[in-house]
Amino acid sequence: MPQGQTQITVNANLNPYAFLITYVHEVAHAAVHQYYRSQWRIGRKRVEAPHGKRWKTTFQQLMQPLLSETVFPVEILQPLTHYIANPAATTYAHPALVVALRQADVAVAAPISVRRIMLKDLPEGKDFQFAKKTFRRGTLRRTRVVCKEMSSGKSYTILAHALVEVDYDE
Ligand SMILES: [Zn+2]
Repeated sequence: MPQGQTQITVNANLNPYAFLITYVHEVAHAAVHQYYRSQWRIGRKRVEAPHGKRWKTTFQQLMQPLLSETVFPVEILQPLTHYIANPAATTYAHPALVVALRQADVAVAAPISVRRIMLKDLPEGKDFQFAKKTFRRGTLRRTRVVCKEMSSGKSYTILAHALVEVDYDE
C-alpha cells in the first residue's frame, strides 16, 4: 500500500477454518516481506522463493499457538498438524487436509425456502438436512453433535460447526 501499510485479502467464501489457515499464510508472507525490507536497508537482496525457508518457518511459528482443539476440530487438527510440519504453498498438496476442510465447507447453493445454520446453534430434537440426508439433532459432545439419521435410525456424530440446512417453516 502507498504509505507502506500491508493489505491482506482473503476470499470471504471460505469456511472459517480454511479462512484462518489462508489468512495466517498471508500474514507469514507479510512478515517475511517486512523482514526483507529491513534487510534491504542494510544492503542485502531478497534471494528467497515466495514459499521458501523463511516463509515456512514464519508460517509454522504463527500457526503453532492455533494448533489446538479450542481452535480447530480434531478432524482438521490432525491433518493440519501434519501439513504444518512441512507446509507447501497450497493445502491442496495435502489431500487429507483438503478432505477435512471440505467437510466444513458451506454448501454452494440452496433453494430460498431453506436456511443454513451451524449445527451447534440448532435446538436439540430439531430435524435438519446434511449431505442430502435428514438427521435429528441430539446432544453436543465436545466438538461434535450426536445425530440420528432418520431413514436408517443410525446415530452419527457431525461437526458442531458444520452448516446444516433447515426448512424455513420449522
Ligand atoms: Zn503464498
